[in-house]
Amino acid sequence: MAAAGGLYGQQRTTRFFFDAEPQELRWVLRATDEVINVTIYEFPDVSVSPDLPDTDGTVIWRSTQSRCLFSHAVLNAAQDVFTEHGQAGYQAKWMLHPFPVALVQDLRRLHLRDDACGLSHDLAHP
Ligand SMILES: [Zn+2]
Repeated sequence: MAAAGGLYGQQRTTRFFFDAEPQELRWVLRATDEVINVTIYEFPDVSVSPDLPDTDGTVIWRSTQSRCLFSHAVLNAAQDVFTEHGQAGYQAKWMLHPFPVALVQDLRRLHLRDDACGLSHDLAHP
């Protein structure tokens, strides 16, 4: 799931989903240079819905945030999981989660490069 890194590059729309059986919760992120629009769609049956278009789902949440703040929030959430569960717990939890370690690391690299954030977002050394 290297997808969200694309929010900083050419690819401007990213989709991924939570398997919240029996539902699917699909996140759709649309980025401009300044903001990220986040829409979460709910589908009743995850066994078939990953093939359905967004318009077949029900919008349950929608928000627009600055790209910097969004990346920052994701990285802080990753930090919280890491701090609470430690390395092993973090690996286990995020393997089952739509924000795998590689994606978080990718977001961090881009966030530090492009967003002039003062924090290191280094999980092991906050
Ligand atoms: Zn930051």
